[in-house]
Amino acid sequence: MQTTDAFDGLACTDCGASFGVDEHGRCPDCGAPLSPAYDLDAVDPAAFGARDAPGQYRFGDLLPFPADAAITAGEGGTPLVRTDRLAEEPASTPRTSKTRGATRRGRSTTAG
Ligand SMILES: [Zn+2]
Repeated sequence: MQTTDAFDGLACTDCGASFGVDEHGRCPDCGAPLSPAYDLDAVDPAAFGARDAPGQYRFGDLLPFPADAAITAGEGGTPLVRTDRLAEEPASTPRTSKTRGATRRGRSTTAG
């Protein structure tokens, strides 16, 4: 199975045991969830997030699998718009908001 250069495998979030990509879900030793581990020195900080790829794959160096191995329907890339007037409200108000119904590719989406 093809993985990104920085992907080091899976690590148990409790006991720290390391596993290959073929292990799934939970640690077979203690039952805690597994989390991807990365070699951060393998990531070029200048290129991180700058590549021309859809959605999360702009940050593909820190994903387990490369973009060309992804199974996707083209999701991601929902535009954010500034909400300066709302930002004047209480401090917990976000300064940007997603524009539901618009995607980077211009297709409409339906929110349930
Ligand atoms: Zn464990």
